[in-house]
Amino acid sequence: MPISQGDLVRRVELLDSVENSGLSWFWATDQHGRMIYLSQNAQSRLGLGDEGVIGKHLTEIFQSDDAENAEGDGGRPLAYYLGARNSIVKLPVKVAASAENLILEIAGKPQFDAQHNFCGYRGSAKDITKIHESQRDAKRLAQYDALTGLANRHRMNKQLDSSLNKYRSDKRACALMMLDLDRFKQVNDTLGHPAGDELLKQVSGRLGQIFGNKGEIGRLGGDEFLIMLPDVDDRGELGELGARVIQMIAQPYSINGLRAIIGVSLGIAIAPYDGLNAEELVKAADLALYAAKGGGRGQYRFYSRELQEGAKLRRQLEEDLRDALIKDELVMHYQPIVKASDYKLSGFEALIRWEHPERGFVSPEIFIACAEDIGMIGQIGEWALHKVCEQASQWPIELRVAVNVSPTQFTSSDFVQVVQRALQKSGLAPDRLELEITESVFAGDDDLTRTIFTELKNLGVRLALDDFGTGYSSLSYLRNAPFDKIKIDQSFVRGSTEEGNNNSAIISAIVSLADALGMETVAEGTETKDELALVKKRGASHVQGYIFSQPISHEEALERLAKGQLIYEPRGPEKYRADRKSVLRKIGLIHDDHRYIVTLRNISKTGARIEGLLDVPVGTEVVLDLGDGQLAVATVRRSRKHVQGVEFEPPLISNGADGLCTRHRVSPYELEAAGRPLAALPHDAFGVLQESGLKRMPSIPRFAEMEFEPT
Ligand code: C2E
Ligand code: MG
Ligand code: MG
Repeated sequence: MPISQGDLVRRVELLDSVENSGLSWFWATDQHGRMIYLSQNAQSRLGLGDEGVIGKHLTEIFQSDDAENAEGDGGRPLAYYLGARNSIVKLPVKVAASAENLILEIAGKPQFDAQHNFCGYRGSAKDITKIHESQRDAKRLAQYDALTGLANRHRMNKQLDSSLNKYRSDKRACALMMLDLDRFKQVNDTLGHPAGDELLKQVSGRLGQIFGNKGEIGRLGGDEFLIMLPDVDDRGELGELGARVIQMIAQPYSINGLRAIIGVSLGIAIAPYDGLNAEELVKAADLALYAAKGGGRGQYRFYSRELQEGAKLRRQLEEDLRDALIKDELVMHYQPIVKASDYKLSGFEALIRWEHPERGFVSPEIFIACAEDIGMIGQIGEWALHKVCEQASQWPIELRVAVNVSPTQFTSSDFVQVVQRALQKSGLAPDRLELEITESVFAGDDDLTRTIFTELKNLGVRLALDDFGTGYSSLSYLRNAPFDKIKIDQSFVRGSTEEGNNNSAIISAIVSLADALGMETVAEGTETKDELALVKKRGASHVQGYIFSQPISHEEALERLAKGQLIYEPRGPEKYRADRKSVLRKIGLIHDDHRYIVTLRNISKTGARIEGLLDVPVGTEVVLDLGDGQLAVATVRRSRKHVQGVEFEPPLISNGADGLCTRHRVSPYELEAAGRPLAALPHDAFGVLQESGLKRMPSIPRFAEMEFEPT
């Protein structure tokens, strides 16, 4: 149908108004793809002069957004459409010559004449820069944490998933560290959320410094971080990294002129040993983290099979702890603190004990952290204060008594009133009560802490700084805080007499500092005669430790006091001995392709004592199969009948808790190569390897295995 003149005019007017409105622009090319038309106001908006556009090839003016194409749906470049003479539908392009980062969306249709000859494109374009930018931001927001700029949970999961898939086919390893800040909540609550945010930023900065480009760091939300470390499976290296993280994060932070101190716990799992895919590995790292926190915080822990048991146990303990108070399962024990000069009793430290009906004695190291987590520390702390004041008020001699106070309890709003009530109810003289607090009370609000100190001093109670030297080691607060006593942490006393150890110098330093400030000093955890001699020589005014007495029940304490036995005798080993853990378990011993079963008697980083093989010559090289794919190469150094002392080379390493492990394990990839489907390590990894992998000769044992009764 022919178009009337009037229609034509109206159409041109309409097109003009669309062009002018900026809603859409028009463009056209000749058959070679050269621009023959571009709306006038598009040219001015894009900052392209008249002559700049006409005659240029379309791809010189518009360029497909490569970043977009690379990331997204694999969109094809503009040249492809032009070459193929395809229709262009909603293609985002950049404007090459424009100084601004303009993004247009173009559409176009190829045109053909009556003889079906291609004669160019006619198309439209519109400015989508704003929409595009906000989409980008949204995408970024969806992948990165706005506060720290680190990858967020979503991105970390995606990265981990795709990396682990790739690594699996290349037989690579990947370690995962999961971090959770300790006492972050306390800082957040006392200093406020903006301070908490600032703290998180500084933490992420420190993590960046530690890991550099060794790994990808992400924030999972709250105070949880995740670090992915490709190609790391040496647990020795990971342990060192973990220790470094703990040390760096524990350094004080300055936030708007205020000091904040936090700690961190971390769990470590390694693919493919502890899990193959993201889900398994995250679960394993999470469990290790949970164990690190349960172990008292400020620690790292490797995932191991046993932890699954441990996690169940802890959940059970949390349940049971809720009833422990009602069921009267908590008791206070008392450990003497004696004067260093004459070993005369100067007071007792009260230490809480939980007699669990099935599990027996549960250590406060474990359940105090539990109580904090489930919000019961206030109740338990109050109970302890009342109990101790009441018991101490019955003593026939007016001795001092020390009570441990957890930082959470200390900064709770009613703490001072709780102390006051306990004193009033029991009638105990305030100066007989000593509160032991740790350096971590300085983690939060300085003003609040100072107020509490002042109020406590007004009550007349004494204050002791517990575990000194383990925390943040800033001496500045010592000057302002009204402590009557510093307790030197046992880690300085233990091994202080060993050669090449600077603990004794540290003890001297702490003592002279305390003397200068007019405070008493207690050497905690003194066990041996040589330690006692050393701490006395270094000037500690008081001593506490097994050398004088373990913590005893209240009845025993009462009895001693009633008998007037106030002088203690040092009783204990002469010398400190490096920690050898006594164990009694069956392990595998491999020699000459034969696997024996022996009993592991004790084990340290450098060696072990085993029993069960007769007359193994000194110098024999063996491999101990410690389970879970841990093979330790060792040489027999001592041998007597059925008992051998072996030396590990390389040495074992710490598992983060008080256990030991090997740096490396049998790799699941080895098991796969031996014909097993790839899976996380089974407990009996070596056995599996032996059965399915090695074609074994019917091996003849070289040594006689002997059964014996464990003593
Ligand atoms: P702490 O206040 O530093 O207490 C000293 C710990 O060292 C006690 O462990 C004590 O039994 C132990 N110890 C004493 N002498 C020696 C020694 O010669 N060698 C060795 N190896 N250890 C020695 P315990 O009773 O297991 O308490 C552990 C921690 O639990 C305490 O450390 C304290 O921080 C906390 N705790 C104990 N009772 C309470 C309580 O009533 N409330 C709170 N909030 N915490 C408590
Ligand atoms: Mg204490
Ligand atoms: Mg202590």
